[in-house]
Amino acid sequence: MDFKQIWQQQKEYFRTGGTKDIAFRKEQLKKLAEVIESNESRLYDAVQKDLGKSEFEAYATELSFVKNEIKYFLKNLSVLARPQEVSTNIVNQIASSKIYYEPYGNTLIISPWNYPYQLSFVPAITALAAGNTVILKPSEVAAHTAELMEELINKSFPSELFHVVQGGVQETTALLDLRFDKIFFTGSPAVGRIVYQSAARHLTPVTLELGGKSPAIVTESANLGVAARRIVWGKFLNAGQSCIAPDYVYVHEDVKDNFLKHLKNYIEKYKYESGADHYSRIINLKNFNRVKSLINPEKVWYGGNSDESELFIEPTVMLIDNWDEKVMQEEIFGPVLPILTFRNLDDVFEIIKDYEKPLSAYLFTMDTKEKERFTKEISFGGGCINDTVMHISNPNLPFGGVGNSGIGSYHGRYGFLAFSHQKAVMDKTTWGEPNLKYPPYTDSKKKWTRRIM
Ligand code: NAD
Repeated sequence: MDFKQIWQQQKEYFRTGGTKDIAFRKEQLKKLAEVIESNESRLYDAVQKDLGKSEFEAYATELSFVKNEIKYFLKNLSVLARPQEVSTNIVNQIASSKIYYEPYGNTLIISPWNYPYQLSFVPAITALAAGNTVILKPSEVAAHTAELMEELINKSFPSELFHVVQGGVQETTALLDLRFDKIFFTGSPAVGRIVYQSAARHLTPVTLELGGKSPAIVTESANLGVAARRIVWGKFLNAGQSCIAPDYVYVHEDVKDNFLKHLKNYIEKYKYESGADHYSRIINLKNFNRVKSLINPEKVWYGGNSDESELFIEPTVMLIDNWDEKVMQEEIFGPVLPILTFRNLDDVFEIIKDYEKPLSAYLFTMDTKEKERFTKEISFGGGCINDTVMHISNPNLPFGGVGNSGIGSYHGRYGFLAFSHQKAVMDKTTWGEPNLKYPPYTDSKKKWTRRIM
């Protein structure tokens, strides 16, 4: 069946009101949980084929997120979806006012290849929980996971509710020509712009989860061992192919040598070697060549080796002086870590402000004033103090970018809001209304209106 037909079916189905029943939505989430549960080993196998991702990482960074999101909505959906009563101001008495959480309708979810399950299923779960239909278009670049998701979803769910379609640029472009009620896109800022422009033709609301260069700053007062360990983990997780991986590090001049000593220690300790079960490979040759081209051998301080036949790039640390280096011209999205130094934190903040707003930022410090300045002075999607990446795993925090790194956010309640229209309704009594707003506008009415409004 072609996707235009699916889209048409989903439009018709949404109009029946079938998705609005809360018990029905929960049933779908339970069904998805079962599908995942009973196919877990196949899911691990496919992501191993696409990215060489270990079962541990696939669980910890993908399936656990998916399962937790389902659990969250099974527990909280009834309360989230309940109309929320708000107070009514004096001008509108006698009335009651409520916010109704209305599903947008037919949604399109477009996902990337780096965390194929998490970034496809979490938005899909949220869209279904909020009462929408879903067409999910996973990335063609992670072919094994995309095919498995298509097989599992399309045989388990009615196509008028939830359907996976495959395709690359051409198919996605055709999908974007159709009118959806909400588009949720995760991917690069460049494609994000294309999606945004397409959505504008139909005035379709979007959530854009994009990327960028996320800084990690290590100040003089930082616990250097902890900083190095957590930066190494966050950077080399999934071989650096994480949207919120620290892209580069600014370390204070006075602690640079000590920090580098710890950094090397942890890279070696964690044995990110070719063939290591816990170290992902680069997704494909195109990205392998792209990441390799960012490595300037003259600036390599650690690593630098690679093996094309294994799509393996060794954790590589480069010492650089400025942003003229090629590695600073784009989001790295691979296991290459440039290190720059600073003397004054002001300078680092100014540099960050000169460039696009990052998706994440990380500060390592023991100094309360520096923590405060970090949260107040620079803009970024989200981040951590004294850690990397982990803010994504707190379901009570919204996850999303700002400026070039994205529009909107999701996870838990924030996701529910991203997929719902907040419809405001005032319900008035037919009695008890002061005669103020109706003509003729007498002096006494004017006086009272001024007083009340
Ligand atoms: P991408 O933008 O190339 O692709 C994302 C999706 O868009 C894929 O499904 C792809 O098929 C589709 N697509 C590609 N070109 C298109 C076009 N011209 N028209 C329409 N659709 C098109 O991104 P990617 O390479 O899959 O992922 C890497 C990027 O995603 C990085 O920038 C990374 O930071 C970002 N990312 C962001 C998050 C987040 O949560 N904010 C998560 C993961 C990745």
